[in-house]
Amino acid sequence: MLQRLPAEPGMREEEVDTPALILDLDAFEANLDAMAARLAPTGAKLRAHAKTHKSPVIARLQMARGAVGQCVQKVAEAEILAWGGVDDILVSNEVVSPRKLARLAALSGIARVALCADDPAMIPVIEEAAEAAGRRLSVLVEIDVGPGRCGIAPGPEAVALAGRIAASPHLRFGGLQAYHGKAQHLRTPEERAAAIRHAADGTRHTLEQLRQQGLDCPIVGGAGTGSFPLELESGLWTEIQAGSYAFMDADYARNGTPPPFRQSLFVLAQVMSAPRGSGRAVVDAGHKALPTDSGMPLVHGRPGLIYGRPSDEHGTITAEGAALPAIGEKLRLVPGHCDPTVDRFDWYVGVRDGRVECVWPVAARGAMA
Ligand code: PLP
Ligand code: MN
Repeated sequence: MLQRLPAEPGMREEEVDTPALILDLDAFEANLDAMAARLAPTGAKLRAHAKTHKSPVIARLQMARGAVGQCVQKVAEAEILAWGGVDDILVSNEVVSPRKLARLAALSGIARVALCADDPAMIPVIEEAAEAAGRRLSVLVEIDVGPGRCGIAPGPEAVALAGRIAASPHLRFGGLQAYHGKAQHLRTPEERAAAIRHAADGTRHTLEQLRQQGLDCPIVGGAGTGSFPLELESGLWTEIQAGSYAFMDADYARNGTPPPFRQSLFVLAQVMSAPRGSGRAVVDAGHKALPTDSGMPLVHGRPGLIYGRPSDEHGTITAEGAALPAIGEKLRLVPGHCDPTVDRFDWYVGVRDGRVECVWPVAARGAMA
């Protein structure tokens, strides 16, 4: 159930109820523009990852700047986007449940829909769902270009799978999904470059073998915020799937030579206790507002203040060479990891020049089935 609106347009940011998900609209729009400008002179297009923002509003802002469509990780996310008017969606993931495949096939009546496969055993199951719906589904072959998660081996096995898809009457071979997730957060530029060189080698070989078999490969998809300039440099990838670039987070900021985007996403929290003589202030945002899988949030714009010791609904602020914030003060916290943070909130509160300008639903919040 959607929660009560935390803010109304025109309000000052300090008046917003906490914890709240704040989107700094100037920084956010600058990020969307910067990515569009970076991709414009290349042959590649953005297919932004909506697992980050979970919002048809944001998807459409990206597409207005030239993105060809959206990626999602889950069928339920695809549904929310399509119902919100997004007309080109890739599930950048394997889907094996017949019920989910039936939902995807139905969705392909209102949007272009594609999904990934990495095992020949799945092809008859996807074919059956497409046939039952009387539709043709596009299937990309996911190759494991290094991360060791999903994906069939690059080369002959991948080519055989592509052939199997192309030979299925209700399926179309959509291309290769070649995403190296581990590369994004490798800390040094050299490590990231080596990882993507490896990914490019596997992708190049597979493309050559597809060509030898006469199989046309319309899309090579992959890349994220931490590595996409490297994929672009290779000239192999046609669709860049960055998601975090729109918001950024404390973890990306820790990359050596971090990506050239601004922090636009914050969790606004309020000091609701500062026990006298304790040397700490306590804010109303803990694990339930700020996932710490990628490290602690940072206190934005307040040097010397440190967030730590989260519990369910509390976070502790300590100070080094700075004054502790007083009861009632509100702090902008930079999330450790933007994607799961967004999923904790029902609303984005869009702020410009200190005032609330818009409130957008995180429409696909919790859409994980
Ligand atoms: N593509 C795929 C398949 C992903 O799983 C992810 C994130 O994990 C991304 C793209 C986007 O990564 P980022 O949000 O770091 O840009
Ligand atoms: Mn992420």
